[in-house]
Amino acid sequence: MVELCEKYADGRKILSVTMEIGELSGMIPDAVEFCFDACTRDTLLEGARLIIERIPGQGRCVCGAESPLNTFYDPCPACGGFGLTVTAGEELRVRELEVE
Ligand SMILES: [Zn+2]
Repeated sequence: MVELCEKYADGRKILSVTMEIGELSGMIPDAVEFCFDACTRDTLLEGARLIIERIPGQGRCVCGAESPLNTFYDPCPACGGFGLTVTAGEELRVRELEVE
């Protein structure tokens, strides 16, 4: 992720990074923040502000119902079926970089 940001920044200093982290991605924001501090030392990202946006899980069922998902294994609230298609919540990406 640091490498990705440096590539985008193209040698400019990065002021802030906005990341989208889906609630189903398995990433814990606290851990990401901790890792961010450790990983950005001596890089263009050092001292940059990390902004984390959480994306709630969302799934679509074969019956057509859309529902919030807390886990991959939640049943459909409309028909009780399992195996919902995850439509949101798996994100793990850099959405925005603010450079000097
Ligand atoms: Zn359903």
